[in-house]
Amino acid sequence: MARTKTGKSMINGILSVGMVVLMLALLVASLWNWRFASWHGLIWLATFLGIFIIRWPYSVQNRKNTIISDKNNGVEKLLLLGMFVTMTFLPLGDLATRGEVLAFADYQLPSWATMIGAALALPFLLLFWRSHADLGDNWSPGLEMHAEHKLITKGVYARLRHPMYASIWLGAAMQALLIHNWLAGFAVIPAFLAMHIIRIPHEEAMMRKQFGTDYDEYMKRSGRIFPKWANNPK
Ligand code: SAH
Repeated sequence: MARTKTGKSMINGILSVGMVVLMLALLVASLWNWRFASWHGLIWLATFLGIFIIRWPYSVQNRKNTIISDKNNGVEKLLLLGMFVTMTFLPLGDLATRGEVLAFADYQLPSWATMIGAALALPFLLLFWRSHADLGDNWSPGLEMHAEHKLITKGVYARLRHPMYASIWLGAAMQALLIHNWLAGFAVIPAFLAMHIIRIPHEEAMMRKQFGTDYDEYMKRSGRIFPKWANNPK
């Protein structure tokens, strides 16, 4: 049965509001303490603001969609929580506490590795932005289909089925190279690896169920996170 986000349980609503409030509080504290951060920590913070600005309008739109089916089970929620903790809570918490609380988990990297991390910021944000722009109203944080859902196979989706996840891989590598800490920097890599392995097969099965042979054809001419060049896109 079709239902809107307003029908979701109150606990889910309170949890998501709590996460946004926590994120905003940590963001303000990080910006407040910017003088205590390294140059590479500040580059990470700038990309975090970029993510926030790019995603905000799509999050607002997503709340208005009428969902016709979803696969947001307990495992999905755990994966999303893992991403929130490793991509938002820990790195912002580290900056907000001037690197003091998590100092026990620091590591060192040669400066060339940090430079590579900084160089990844631009391709990451570009692909992250283009995948949101091309997906438009069809974007959602979890796995769901809405009433007006359309299959997108143009723009950055022409040769890649998961350009947004490809961009998040760039962002995860960037984070591990810019924030020299196993928890605030590196932990996003295993968290996103789990999401990649578990979510993509569910997402593709959901898309095949909805779009049938159109999605099968699309799969033949596109790669998951690496572009497929063998066949010409239609
Ligand atoms: N996996 C994609 C999209 C991530 S957003 C990427 O990495 O770019 C997740 C939502 O996008 C899913 O709930 C699904 O409904 C939707 N989605 C994924 N691929 C899509 C496509 N080609 N066209 C339309 N919607 C798509």
